[in-house]
Amino acid sequence: MQPIPEDIIQQAITWRREIHACPEIGLQEFHTSAKISELLETFGLEVHTGMAGTGIIGVLRNGEGPAIGIRADIDALPIQENNTVAWCSASPGTMHACGHDGHTAILLGAARYLSQTRAFQGTVCFIFQPAEENAGGGRLMVEEGLFDRFPMSAVYALHNWPGLPVGEVAVNPGPMMASQDNFFITLTGVGCHAAMPEKGADPVLAGAHLITALQTITTRRLSPLDSAVISVTQLQAGEAINVVPQTMQLSGTLRCLSQRARAQCQALMADYVEQLAGPFGVRGEIHWEYGYPVTVNHAQQAETLARAARGTPGITQVHTQLPPSMAAEDFAYLLEACPGAYLWLGADGPTPGASLHNPYYDFNDQLIAPGIGLWVSLVEQSLNPVAVTSED
Ligand SMILES: [Zn+2]
Ligand SMILES: [Zn+2]
Repeated sequence: MQPIPEDIIQQAITWRREIHACPEIGLQEFHTSAKISELLETFGLEVHTGMAGTGIIGVLRNGEGPAIGIRADIDALPIQENNTVAWCSASPGTMHACGHDGHTAILLGAARYLSQTRAFQGTVCFIFQPAEENAGGGRLMVEEGLFDRFPMSAVYALHNWPGLPVGEVAVNPGPMMASQDNFFITLTGVGCHAAMPEKGADPVLAGAHLITALQTITTRRLSPLDSAVISVTQLQAGEAINVVPQTMQLSGTLRCLSQRARAQCQALMADYVEQLAGPFGVRGEIHWEYGYPVTVNHAQQAETLARAARGTPGITQVHTQLPPSMAAEDFAYLLEACPGAYLWLGADGPTPGASLHNPYYDFNDQLIAPGIGLWVSLVEQSLNPVAVTSED
């Protein structure tokens, strides 16, 4: 493919910094959403607003052919920015600390370029998705009929990835990111004088055993080849030093790399909570807040995306077997509903910047050109029947 013209790259960097200066958290991306739809209209795309509240679909048609979707997340985080760059967040307590400003600018740049060059046959749906960080905007879009209203044969997304150098990308067949479920355990005993424990039933002692017992699920009950992590992160019990409290609350998070491990961990944790507490005279209950599923790339689309990356100027190495991350991503919901793939775009310059969700994080603008190039390469390769046939 041709390199992306410099004016489009510079324009996208400007958009990225404008979006960075005006961050909005999940489902409240009103200003960001209005800016995106205005730009898509100037590119001549068909613009659909209001999906999952602030979500936008821009449709670019060019003759008969298949349709594919490309998704960017548009939300920011409730973090106070510590950077002093000129495009610093103008909203106290809110910042683009995950690079969604960059993902959005990349997708806008690709939409502008493809609307001008149109070297493909078919339809591209540019999906601007709200609330990746908290409220599961991806799930809302799927529930609101994203794939019924905009039928597509495949859907793709990228995330900038500190830890990989600029120029390198990763797209594995199979899991890329973990599931995320939060759990809330209540242990109810019988409060009593701390000097007379036989008069009551101690939920704190039961809780101490439970915390260590839960760790045996991943070490003894799951296969060592199944990846899962159980982290108990919050404990609440007791008000007075001489009182055995009536209740103890424990909460934390479960992350897994397969649906099987996720179901097994949830069932075993419920067993432990209910049954381990019994001999202590304590009643245990567990309540779940189910979060994002495992983000699993479909093998064929992962290969399509890897091939597009290999043909992109500025991308020098394509990893297809990198270990997945135990963090979670709501693009998982889109991949459950439609074949597709998710890619990490290496983000580290010679001196690596701050990590994702850090108050010093700022999207690396060096990624704008290879990011736009990747989407253009994907569209031109996968919506070009001649090229695909000759390659096969
Ligand atoms: Zn994030
Ligand atoms: Zn993110």
